[in-house]
Amino acid sequence: MQDFGENIQQVHNDQLGRHLVAGMNIEPGDTLLEERPLLVTPHWECGQLKCAQCFQESYVICRRCQVYPLCMDCSQHDDFECSFFASGAGKGICKDILVKNYGICGLLKLLLLLEDPATRPDCETLVERPVNLDDYRDGDGMWQEHEEQVVRPLMASGLLEVLPGQQLTSDVLHAHCIRIDSNAFEVTARDGDTLKGVFVCGASLPHNCVPNTVVALDEQFNMKLYAAVPLQTGDIIYNSYTNPLMGTSQRQHQLRLSRRLDCSCSRCLDPTEMGTHMSSMKCRECSQGYAVCEMDSEGRPGDWRCLECQATMSAASVHELLAEVGGALVEARGELPVYESLLTQYKSMLHPNHFLLLDIKQNIASILRAAALMNSMEQPCKKLLARRVELCSDLLPVCRAVVPGISKLYAIGLFEYLLALIELVELQFAESDMTKKEYVAQLRTARVVGKEAMDLLRFEPENSAEGYLSDRISMELERIDSDLNKYGG
Ligand SMILES: [Zn+2]
Ligand SMILES: [Zn+2]
Ligand SMILES: [Zn+2]
Ligand SMILES: [Zn+2]
Repeated sequence: MQDFGENIQQVHNDQLGRHLVAGMNIEPGDTLLEERPLLVTPHWECGQLKCAQCFQESYVICRRCQVYPLCMDCSQHDDFECSFFASGAGKGICKDILVKNYGICGLLKLLLLLEDPATRPDCETLVERPVNLDDYRDGDGMWQEHEEQVVRPLMASGLLEVLPGQQLTSDVLHAHCIRIDSNAFEVTARDGDTLKGVFVCGASLPHNCVPNTVVALDEQFNMKLYAAVPLQTGDIIYNSYTNPLMGTSQRQHQLRLSRRLDCSCSRCLDPTEMGTHMSSMKCRECSQGYAVCEMDSEGRPGDWRCLECQATMSAASVHELLAEVGGALVEARGELPVYESLLTQYKSMLHPNHFLLLDIKQNIASILRAAALMNSMEQPCKKLLARRVELCSDLLPVCRAVVPGISKLYAIGLFEYLLALIELVELQFAESDMTKKEYVAQLRTARVVGKEAMDLLRFEPENSAEGYLSDRISMELERIDSDLNKYGG
């Protein structure tokens, strides 16, 4: 199921367990691992039946087993699971087990993979990783969701009695649900719906907020892992399981919730967050200083201190302000003027790269983009187009800094900037606000931006969202080149 490159090795230590290291010096873009998913499943709460074979919407049930949903294009699904209900141990189980409780399908899949001698070894690699149930019990809503959507219906289905070898109890089932959730990557079905994909090897990569690899997922849910930066022999292969545009406190909160993980990577330990100052506050005592979080020798956060005048701000006052902005962001509910006024209000208190300001800017840019797509902007819209260009360009240096090397985040940032810039300069030129010479100069800038984005996406599979984005950028580049030819570029 997994295919290691010759360039990596599997090793084991107490801190990280089983993990991968570079077996030689590796170039950016080199493939490290290719893997088929162990299982793909809709989210627990998915109410729409999906084809067991291809995950499109389903309106028919497999004739042979009378249990699994199929679509009009697929006539069969996994032979082991079909036979299990058609003629094997599960043939006495009520046939509408999935129709009635579709939430169980991911866990049912895992149980049958564990039952099937052909897939059991791969599954055991996943299942042998211990889960401390007490970390989850009575915690957030996750335990309750598993209990209601999956564990209780499965316990009542009679399935446990026909799988005696697995010694299934409510706790074992909960642990399996947590393993599926905490190891899943988001994959996209052909109809655009998101699903969970579990990869045995891919999921075992340790986390680092500054990953040295890129995960590519194609339409058949295959994973390819490639190097983002040059790797030296012995370097640990890392992936990131958070959003790099979040600040340290947000990322750590998310990692604790989703993976019970305390990150102490180089970015988490650097109060300036790789020089981006994504969590820095404006000093209240001096005019030009920024305050960063002081950490003790164990990396625990304390108060905030200005790098210029050394004045301190209490951690409590910083948290209070962040909670206030966070709350205001939720309240803004997609209203453009509200976001703009939040930006004006808080830019005197936060570093311009602060993650909350970036969040507001991303919100404004996407509203402006949607408005441009629907042609709903009122005339004259040059001002709004120029605003979008400005916001997209503000985001670029941060995107570049937080994911070094080959970065999909930066590629997407460049693409957004390219689209905004082209729309603006085309309009300015059409309305004679810009000379031919200026227009040609802007098109040349746009061409450089587009080429850089294409270059960052060149290791992505053709049949993936990023592959299609590449096609889209190359169409823009053709248009730019033809205009450059026309106007003497
Ligand atoms: Zn299908
Ligand atoms: Zn079947
Ligand atoms: Zn980290
Ligand atoms: Zn100061």
